[in-house]
Parts: sequence; structure tokens; C-alpha cells
Amino acid sequence: MLTPDIAAAQRLADAVVDGFGLTPPVDVESLVLNHAFVENFDFGVPDLDAVLLGLDADEKYVFLDPTKGAKRRRFTLAHELGHILLPWHLAHDLMCNADGEGDADDEAANSDSTGLASAISTKALEIRKQELEANAFAARVLVPQSFVRSIEELSVPDMLERLEAAAVSAEAGLRALAESLPVGFVFAMLDDNDCVERVWKSGPRRSGMPSPLGLVIGQPVDKDLATLPVRDSGSAFHYGRRVWWSRARMDFDLSPEDGKAADILAAIVGDHTADSASAYAMSQSVSGIGGALVSEVDEASVARMAALLAIRLRRRVELSSFVSDPRFDDYVSARARQLHRSLLKRLYG
Ligand SMILES: [Zn+2]
Repeated sequence: MLTPDIAAAQRLADAVVDGFGLTPPVDVESLVLNHAFVENFDFGVPDLDAVLLGLDADEKYVFLDPTKGAKRRRFTLAHELGHILLPWHLAHDLMCNADGEGDADDEAANSDSTGLASAISTKALEIRKQELEANAFAARVLVPQSFVRSIEELSVPDMLERLEAAAVSAEAGLRALAESLPVGFVFAMLDDNDCVERVWKSGPRRSGMPSPLGLVIGQPVDKDLATLPVRDSGSAFHYGRRVWWSRARMDFDLSPEDGKAADILAAIVGDHTADSASAYAMSQSVSGIGGALVSEVDEASVARMAALLAIRLRRRVELSSFVSDPRFDDYVSARARQLHRSLLKRLYG
């Protein structure tokens, strides 16, 4: 099984945080010293942060590159603690490049290994899997979920300021923040030219939340698009780095159950289109957006389905007359009830 078990790594991190009552800045060096000797060692290799020896022996050694900065050292130590504590990380002595940015989404670790699979690639995938799990563990120990819960009601600029207490890199901190916040937040780190460098979106992977609009790597934020379906947005500073953020409205006041979605759709479309061809096109477009949602979400209440459907429809510039119609909420409510039944059927048969 070569798919990284990110959730298990995070659960173990939560247990360590609870057990030791950890709050930022977490004294990660002391935690590691409970389990291993820590020594400085200049490897003279740019991409190597640490070597962990004796993972399956009584005496474990963590050799750390002393030329790396303090925040990176903290992340590397937390990463090595993940290898030590995750019980299935036994296979080999580990050479780690703990960049804190490795993300299960964009890695090949869960790629299909049939056909050309060999012992070497299987081992490489196993190592990559363990690296991703150790990074997930590290992010969650240094930026505990309980800490994020304690700041999530703040304004986003205040939240980012408080996050600096964790003393991790801006990338690792934003990643951990996004992983612990509820769905609806987007963070984009900007470079010196105000172009998008990295983007994080909060919540579980299959939350049904679409990719953010107007945020293309290497380009400035397209504010017309990026603010289209969101509740509030702005820019803030985190360790002196500029961060564009947005927060979507994830609540939805359901209308009382009254009428079928298809009938409401037909009535709205009829009032906003000039001929049957454009009415058909608009109906198909609106229906298709809802249909796609069912396959992209793993769990959702009716109100959450409605919120997600409303976000998806409001993102479509060509549907602006549809979404501004006074019957829009009635349509979304009726359609969300229908989609929720489809979702339950998909999940439970
Ligand atoms: Zn590692």
C-alpha cells in the first residue's frame, strides 16, 4: 500500500500534542531528545537536511545540517520525530529533505504502479510515502490543530500574525493552517513581484470546494475573478511575505421545501433567455454543475451541498442573470435536496 496515510500521521501528531499539552512555539528539540541523540553534521549536500540512523534499533541518531536556518531545523526535527513515532516507518535508515511542502496531492506516491513496477521503484515510492507522512506529522505537531481552532475566529490578518508564534517557515505554516481550518479559506503566497507563488485551500481534499479562481502560479492575482464568489478577501503579511487570502461563504439559508428544482430552473431560465436554444444551453449548464458536485464530495449536509452549489454557480460569469434572480435561493435549495439524495445513494447504495 503506497498511498501515504496522511490522516494517520495527523492523528498521531494530535495525540502527541494532547499528551504533552503542546502550544506554539513547540519545543521540538526536547521532544526528539526523548527518543534519539541529536548531533550537528555538515553533509555539504544542498538538498539533505538530516540523516536518521537506527530507526529499528534502541539507540537512534539524528544528524542535522547546522547550516540550515532555525525554522527549517525545527521542521526537520519534527519530521524526524514523525519517522521515530510512526510505527510502520522501520524499513531503512532515512536521508531526509524535510521541506515541509511535500503534499500528497501533487506527488506521484499514489500513482499506479502496475506494469513496469520494479523492486526499486516500489522502494522509492515507499520512501516517498514515508517522507510525506513525516511532513504531515511535522506540520501538525508544530502548528497544532487545537491552536488553529483557537485562532480560527480571528480576522485572517490577525490569524496570520498569531501563526508566526509557531516559528516555522511561511510555507509550512500556511500549509498547516489550511489543513486544520474548515473548508472555505484560500491562501496564496506572493513573490516579490506580487505574482502567485503557491496556493493552499483549506479543508479535506474531497470537500467539493472548487479550485480558486484568478490565482495562476507566476501571475498577479486577478482580483475580478478571485473575489467573484467569496465572502471576504484581502492581502496580509506573514513573516514579511505578502499573502492574498479569501474566505467563501459556506453557510446557506435553505428555503422551505416548495416545488421541484426542474420547474424552478425552467421558470428562471425562461425569464432570462431570448430563445429556446439559449434556454436549453443555460439549463444544461446549470444542471451539469450540480451533477458534477455529487461526484466530487465525500460527505455533505443539505445546507453544505447548497452552499457548494451556490458557490459553483456564482463563479460562472455567463450565469450572472441566473444567480441574481430572486428565485435563485429557491432553486439552489430544491436542487441541493435532490443532490443530497443522489450523494447518499452514491455513498450507501
Ligand atoms: Zn524523512
